[in-house]
Amino acid sequence: TREWHLAARPHGEPTPEDFRLVEVPVPEPAEGQVVVRMVVMSVDPYMRGRMRSGPSYAPPWEVGEVMRGGAVGRVVASRAPELPEGSLVLTDAAWREVAVLDAAAVTRLPAAEDVAPSWYLGVLGMPGLTAYAGLFRVGAFREGDDVFVSGAAGAVGSLVGQFARLRGAAGVVGSAGSPEKVAWLREVGFTAAFSYRDGVARGLAEAAPDGIDLFFDNVGGEHLEAAIGAFRVHGRAALCGSISGYNAVEPPPGPRNMGLMVGKRLTLRGFLVSDHADLRPEFTETVTGWLRSGDLVVRETVHEGIEQAVPAFLDLLRGGNVGKMVVRLAPD
Ligand code: NDP
Repeated sequence: TREWHLAARPHGEPTPEDFRLVEVPVPEPAEGQVVVRMVVMSVDPYMRGRMRSGPSYAPPWEVGEVMRGGAVGRVVASRAPELPEGSLVLTDAAWREVAVLDAAAVTRLPAAEDVAPSWYLGVLGMPGLTAYAGLFRVGAFREGDDVFVSGAAGAVGSLVGQFARLRGAAGVVGSAGSPEKVAWLREVGFTAAFSYRDGVARGLAEAAPDGIDLFFDNVGGEHLEAAIGAFRVHGRAALCGSISGYNAVEPPPGPRNMGLMVGKRLTLRGFLVSDHADLRPEFTETVTGWLRSGDLVVRETVHEGIEQAVPAFLDLLRGGNVGKMVVRLAPD
């Protein structure tokens, strides 16, 4: 079977040479273990951080070793009675085709015909919970808020905007990196959208001339500065990510208008989805309901085959995805 190893730590934007696809044997499972064939694996922006050494909230990948990340797989051989052959499971063991795993290291998924396995990596998985916890708990969303979402056409952002609309936002503005993405945001219920490549502050001023109450930030940098400028008094921001700086070699300069935070009495709050696992039952029930009623639009960008995992990851960092980026490794 094949798996991806980290070959080198990148300086700036990662390149294909930083990764190596390696052929390895599949070991025999021991008592209490299962053999999992991956069906679909996730590539996520936080993985750029795992290519770096040094302390971070996700442990770094080691050079010369297999990388890890979220995936949904099928048990194809089992020595654990609680996980019979054929079970669908969630693991953090992908960037490989097949893995032998302790039963305790995987989570069994319900077999629901109207739920695609890849949704457990997106709308019903980590990005979905990030959107839900970040908007409703960290950002303290209130009906009637005017909301601004950066990175709005991505996995997290496209859900944040739709969640806000479904819960009664007055307006939902999204920014993204191309006219095609902007057009799609309007289709899925954003009240306004603009391409940040034409200028963030200008785009936001045109889309939300009366200001914003809540900012969900996936991008950081210039986007955060523009939002601070556009905030009304008592504005709130949920700081989810700052992808505009992930490949930066030097830390980017901070927003130049932090002084406005005082006069506007702003609250800017960073968060990690892992601190909000207690919301999972409520999140799953609510979002499954929106999926079944057809209120929520889910979009994915799918690459095929283990060879495509690195191209998919590099493409994600450059904005080649609409919605959740995943790599399909085997049929459901
Ligand atoms: P996305 O699906 O949004 O993919 C990343 C997107 O980032 C790309 O599609 C691209 O879209 C955009 N992007 C890349 N470079 C830039 C740039 N320089 N300026 C503006 N946009 C850029 O990924 P996710 O939805 O999975 O993640 C979104 C954010 O949420 C990330 O910052 C991630 O780190 C963060 N996150 C945080 C979590 C937490 O617990 N706090 C958990 C999960 C995610 P475009 O074409 O619009 O540029």
